[in-house]
Parts: sequence; structure tokens; C-alpha cells
Amino acid sequence: MSTIAFIGLGHMGAPMSAHLVAAGHTVHGVDLNPAAAAAAAERGVQIVSSVAEALDGADAAITSLPKPEHVRGVYGGIDGILAHAAPSTLLLDTSTVDVETSRWCHAGAQQRGLSFVDAPISGGTAGAEARTLTFMLGGGAADVERAREVVAPMAGNVIACGEAGAGIAAKLVNNMMLFISVMAVSEGSQLAEQLGLDPQVFWDVARVSSADSWALRTWYPVPGIVEKAAANKNFDATFSVELARKDCALAVQAGDDTGVHLPAARLALGQLDDLIAEGLGGKDCTLVARFASPDGTL
Ligand code: NAD
Repeated sequence: MSTIAFIGLGHMGAPMSAHLVAAGHTVHGVDLNPAAAAAAAERGVQIVSSVAEALDGADAAITSLPKPEHVRGVYGGIDGILAHAAPSTLLLDTSTVDVETSRWCHAGAQQRGLSFVDAPISGGTAGAEARTLTFMLGGGAADVERAREVVAPMAGNVIACGEAGAGIAAKLVNNMMLFISVMAVSEGSQLAEQLGLDPQVFWDVARVSSADSWALRTWYPVPGIVEKAAANKNFDATFSVELARKDCALAVQAGDDTGVHLPAARLALGQLDDLIAEGLGGKDCTLVARFASPDGTL
């Protein structure tokens, strides 16, 4: 069994690191938030106080951090992963970042003789708990093969997407499509209700009809329909507005960079911005459903 450093023990990192522990690995965890660290410790993660300490004797290091700046912060600098990792330690970043940041990690690792794989994930917190995450891997073929083994205890699907940054490119496109889908499900849920349909009946119809989608099955924004949906808990975040806004903005930026027109993604980005302006950035991204509600509330 291996020793694995795990940096970032939040909504995703907590269940993911717990699955590595359950698979028999020793997991050294780091998180700036004491509550997140304490919760992970309860699930068997050995909490340490620095990246360097986490990397000591580690066969692999996994990051699950909010935004590109956090990834650059944890990888770079004198206290960072690149400065302290041994050549034998496989580095994997599961965070959703821009392609540039991912390539920056690849280049920094290569300069120091280290192996890095971009390994973003899809499946939400429910997928992280259920070990059904999809991992999208980008990097050299030998490193990607090693990464497959490391992520296996957390994964339902592992797909090699190509060279450096290919995993994160696939992830950005996937999430852009997801947030457009969330808007569709939000508007549909509100219209069905206003047309007098029983929410469960409408959901049952859509689930086996042409409007079926992951957002419908997993994040339906009406209480009492989908067990793990944030709507059941006053829209407490499973995937925060802030993180969704980040992903949408990264996709829109990628569209600008490549000349691709993304009108629907811009609309999704605008709704997420509006929620943040209302001070709701920490709530769940499915709260966009309120924009379809006749009185603007849910
Ligand atoms: P989160 O904010 O719940 O967790 C991130 C954790 O990183 C926090 O606990 C935070 O304290 C910690 N952290 C920040 N800076 C740190 C540092 N310098 N050192 C150590 N710890 C630090 O976010 P999350 O929802 O778990 O998402 C993590 C990543 O996974 C994001 O990039 C997100 O976009 C992506 N993602 C999230 C989901 C989801 O459904 N939540 C799904 C797929 C991908």
C-alpha cells in the first residue's frame, strides 16, 4: 500500500481522501480550514501541518483546491509541492483550473524532473462519496498509466484525454455544458410547477424522456425529489455559486481565446454573477432556479 499526500480536504477532497484510506493507503492531509481537516481526520486521514510534511515519503500527491490561484500557490514557492516533491512522487491535480495553469504545473514539474498529470473530476459530491467520479487525465502516457492506479479507489471512469492539459480542457467543456443544462432544468422545474404539474410526476416524465440529463437526475432544484440535491437543504452548497462561476468564466475565456461563440455560457455566467452580487456566492449553484421563479424566490 502507498502513502499519499492530499492537499485540500473540502467538499470533494474529504470523501476522496477517505476512499484512499479505505483502500488501505496512508493519507497525509493538509487543509487551511481546521474544520475541514478535523472532518477528514475522523475519516482516517493523518493531518499534517505543511505541504513538505505531507510529501515526506509520498508515492503520490493529490490536490483538490478551489481556484487556479490556489493551485499555483500550493505548487509554487519555497513551501510548495514543486520544491519539495521527490522525483518518484506522482503529482495529480484534480482541481478545475484553466488550461494555462495546468500547463504551468506540467512545465514546472518537467523542469525539476517530476511527473505531473492533470486529473480533473466530474460527478459532484455525490459521485465523490459513491466512488463513481469520472477522472479526465492529461499527461505523458507512462504517468497517466500510473495515475490510473492512484485514482482507482475514487473512480467510476478513468479516461486518458491526451497530452498535458487535455484532461482540464475536457473538464472545462463538460462543466460549461453542465451549467447551461442547470439553467434548462431550473427553468423547466419552475414552468412545470406553474403549469400545475406535480413536481414528482414531471420529474418522472423528464427522467425517461428527451429532457433527461445529469443535472435533472442529480441536482433537481425542487425539494423532496432527488435525495442529495441542495434544494433539500435550503441550497447549502454541494457545488457553490463561486466555484460554478469560476468554471463558467474559464470556459467563456477559452471561447474568447479560440474564437468560439458561447452565448448560452455567457447567460449562465451572468446569472451566477447576479447571485454573487446578492451575497449568495457560498450557496449552491442550483439556486439559479430563483431567476425563473415568478416572484424571484424559491
Ligand atoms: P472546497 O472549497 O469545498 O474545498 C477546497 C479546500 O481547499 C477547502 O477546504 C480549503 O480550505 C482548501 N484550501 C484552499 N487553499 C488551500 C491551501 N493553500 N492549502 C491547503 N488547503 C487549502 O471546494 P470543492 O467543492 O471540494 O472543490 C475542489 C475543486 O474540485 C475545485 O477546483 C472544484 O471546481 C472542483 N470540483 C468540485 C466539484 C463539486 O461538486 N464540489 C465537482 C467537480 C470538481
